[in-house]
Amino acid sequence: MTNQTNSVFSQLNDNALVHHSSYIAGQFQSGRNGHFAVHNPADGSLLALVAEAGATEAEQAVTAATAAFPGWSGLTAAERSAKLMRWSQLMLEHQHDLARILTLEQGKPLDEAAGEISYGASFVSWFAEEAKRMNGDIIPAPKANQQILVLKQAIGVVAAITPWNFPNAMILRKAAAALAAGCTFVVKPAELTPLSALALAELATRAGIPAGVFNVVTGTDAKAIGQVLTKDSRVAKFSFTGSTPVGKTLLAQCASTVKKVSMELGGNAPFIVFDDADLAAAVQGLLAAKFRNAGQTCVCVNRVFVQRPVYDAFLAQLIKATAPLKLAPGLEAGCQIGPLINQAAVDKITRLLDQALDQGAELLLGGAIDADLGPLFFQPTIVTDVTADMQISQTEIFGPVLCISVFDTEQEAIALSNNTPTGLASYFYSRDIGRIFRVAKALDYGMIGINEGLISNAAAPFGGVKESGLGREGSSYGLDDFTELKYLCLGGLG
Ligand code: ADP
Repeated sequence: MTNQTNSVFSQLNDNALVHHSSYIAGQFQSGRNGHFAVHNPADGSLLALVAEAGATEAEQAVTAATAAFPGWSGLTAAERSAKLMRWSQLMLEHQHDLARILTLEQGKPLDEAAGEISYGASFVSWFAEEAKRMNGDIIPAPKANQQILVLKQAIGVVAAITPWNFPNAMILRKAAAALAAGCTFVVKPAELTPLSALALAELATRAGIPAGVFNVVTGTDAKAIGQVLTKDSRVAKFSFTGSTPVGKTLLAQCASTVKKVSMELGGNAPFIVFDDADLAAAVQGLLAAKFRNAGQTCVCVNRVFVQRPVYDAFLAQLIKATAPLKLAPGLEAGCQIGPLINQAAVDKITRLLDQALDQGAELLLGGAIDADLGPLFFQPTIVTDVTADMQISQTEIFGPVLCISVFDTEQEAIALSNNTPTGLASYFYSRDIGRIFRVAKALDYGMIGINEGLISNAAAPFGGVKESGLGREGSSYGLDDFTELKYLCLGGLG
């Protein structure tokens, strides 16, 4: 099936969006090192064979990005902005096809995939605007004959490694800001989902983004590619989204050349329901924050804490709302939860759940695979009596399992929530304005949803504290991660 397209892609309006090899210096490369298989998690079928790239291709991509940097950073902000706007428009024009490719390789419901495409494109249009506002500063100098000027300049070549759970948006959140700032970009997408990344490369060409500005290196030897992207001295900035252990390794590798680094790592999100909350809203917020992408996002709720006076009422409403969620292949109409990404994900969740049940947690809903659908379809699950010492409370579950505990006081809820080395997203529901500010200030998290379960958008700074990472993506702050400040001291003015 080398360089052939599975017949499922013949249903696309634009077949040319499907590519099977790395995109370097404006060209899709012919493979020299064999191929790796990309499978559909819904049915295990082979979707595509993609050309293997390794350290050599990663170096070639860095060379291409280095060569393209002077030209791209030398354009005016308005010129870069226009190309990014075109890229974003093309994504929306091909939203249906991009969503279909995404669902096929990743598994999420088609509606969610379409949402991811518009979410990803929104970062490109947002940063196309921000490119024009990369303002510097003029600072009063301590001497009368001096002027202090501060310029913001593109940092240089940016390298990125991205995960499979948002195969489109995790790339665009980084690339949009990098390209807007004037940087050039090399990404290694997750080996499970390379097709969405390659479709973006096709659209970059059509948008007139010059050769070498956006490069995609696809391969299964993540370690070898990662060594190049984190250690090559021509790479000025490295940006990673993925698991905390891999992030720590890559952060250490970046130390050898003192790169600027952004890390979007794992979380262990708490969701607190206070006794003054709007319970119906809290249930809806929890479903949105938990079951999106079958629970496979770093901002998905991991631990639910419910205050005792509303515990029974909340649980009853939650079970009623969760039970009918439709588990199905992502392309099936009405699907709300798709398959998990692979067998390792199923095994991990099963192990965590079994341990919790052995230690006294109670299973109220789900808890198993729906074998009629296939080996990766995990039922929406609710367990109660979950305690802080259980592995399931300390591990990012990355699956459709809700872990519920009861609490009594506000202080207790805050202490339980902060009892983790990570600090990405957190959520709470309350209608008491004093409590809202007290709790928001006390939670050690980079992002807090207050009476809201879906918090990420291009205008807001996404990122975590503690072991959840470094830096912010999106918002006007997001551009700073791709710029250097340059201080000019202009003397002799007296
Ligand atoms: P996940 O659990 O979401 O798969 P990972 O951190 O394992 O998270 O993977 C995220 C990205 O990091 C993927 O693109 C993967 O290929 C890459 N990756 C995994 N291990 C390494 C490594 N040792 N060096 C470089 N990249 C890696």
